[in-house]
Amino acid sequence: MRYNSTRDTGVSVSAAQAITQGISKEGGLFVPEAIPSFSKEEILALVDKPYVERAAAVLSKYLTDFTAEEVKECASLAYTQERFRSPSIAPLHTLEDGVEILELWHGPTCAFKDMALQILPHLMRVSAGKTADGKTIIILVATSGDTGKAALEGFRDAANTRILVFYPEDGVSPMQKLQMTTQEGENVAVCAIRGNFDDAQSGVKAIFTDPAIAAKLERNGMMFSSANSINWGRLVPQIIYYVSSYCEMLKKGALSMGDPINVVVPTGNFGNILAAYYAREMGLPIAKLICASNENRVLTDFIETGVYDRNREFHTTTSPSMDILISSNLERLLYDLSGRDDQAVCRMMDNLKTDGKYTVPAEMHQKIRALFAAGSCDDRRTAETIRDIFQKHGYLLDTHTAVAVAVYEDYRRSTGDTTPTVIASTANPYKFSDAVLTAVSGPSGAGEFEKVDLLYKATGCEVPAPLASLRGKTPRFTGVCNRADMEQTVYDLLHIDAE
Ligand SMILES: *Cc1c(COP(=O)(O)O)cnc(C)c1O
Repeated sequence: MRYNSTRDTGVSVSAAQAITQGISKEGGLFVPEAIPSFSKEEILALVDKPYVERAAAVLSKYLTDFTAEEVKECASLAYTQERFRSPSIAPLHTLEDGVEILELWHGPTCAFKDMALQILPHLMRVSAGKTADGKTIIILVATSGDTGKAALEGFRDAANTRILVFYPEDGVSPMQKLQMTTQEGENVAVCAIRGNFDDAQSGVKAIFTDPAIAAKLERNGMMFSSANSINWGRLVPQIIYYVSSYCEMLKKGALSMGDPINVVVPTGNFGNILAAYYAREMGLPIAKLICASNENRVLTDFIETGVYDRNREFHTTTSPSMDILISSNLERLLYDLSGRDDQAVCRMMDNLKTDGKYTVPAEMHQKIRALFAAGSCDDRRTAETIRDIFQKHGYLLDTHTAVAVAVYEDYRRSTGDTTPTVIASTANPYKFSDAVLTAVSGPSGAGEFEKVDLLYKATGCEVPAPLASLRGKTPRFTGVCNRADMEQTVYDLLHIDAE
């Protein structure tokens, strides 16, 4: 299988190249030349298999330049019992009849980013072995909070690799910040930037696509790659858990093979829900893809109107990993739904860059409406949802998952659609203790770990060990820089001369 660029269909690279390179030279994203399919028999054959085998089955369809042994090795090293505190890796929790919460946060950093970032370093190592001729790979990350920590944890002390993470100074939760700034490992660095996530992301993207910077790195025996969800190696592992959740439902008799499900995804950069779209295109019986946004409802409006318009107020919300106005992975969907029309994608992305908006053709908008439903939810409703679900079901949601649950409630009420539904749960509630505690038992002025204690007292829900162990740790990384100084910061952190 070859990979093309969303901005130049003429670009054709192997999976290994797509993964080491991260982004195509002209700024497009790598996409498979055709979406492989999964037959009913293939899905049924995975029902009694562990997660690692489900993973290998999905990955081997896309990573055709990897050997079967390489794929299996990557999956086995990533999805272990030591790293994921759940035997099924991505377990389902039945909220009520026909409503399943897909818990994606049992990995080392307690957010769903681990599902991809625990395996990406292994995919990268194998890919680099095939393509990177001994260069040191520099992983450059812009994070809205969870990617940064998950990438640091995944790549720490990985051979021939260094990782630099930029996060918005005031755009992450105290727990997220502490997770990143206390990161251990010899090959890691973390820096705050003055700005929001979109500033961090566009800064990183600009560095990535600047040929002069690439040349400078090359002279120093280095090359950039990306651990953001623009990297195909981030996206493909996310397809696995949708397939796996369907297998789990078959296994417990909640479905018969072929029965449709709906999937609800709390969305920011459009990566997680795009993986569900790929699963659907592969043949997984998904009926509706329900896209849930917080007050930054740029995607809700886009799906409803066909106009993507980022010219709006940016809201800092209690679900910070979704505080995003430029959803990068949407580009892959546009490419697919336009019939792989790279010129159309270029025009839309140019418009986004110059005017902050673009409109999709009516025909494409119709397709989007058929595939997707969308809704949004403000902080007040998010808090109400956390409280209600806890009171009704004794189950504690984090803020992002609560957005998804609220949007699902609205969807179900307005459509009457009772198709069995999988709701992606993207973080453990203790990552956002302040907002979750406030929702459950009212505001409290205590420090971050007192909040953790109070939340435990109020709910009896277990505090995950990786978060509990941060208590009392001293930050290693305290640097802050301006958006304009990111390039220099990269040179400083890599100890290379700017000239
Ligand atoms: C990253 C993240 C999201 C958004 O996922 P996208 O793939 O960017 O849409 C939602 N919730 C949490 C907790 C996250 O970390």
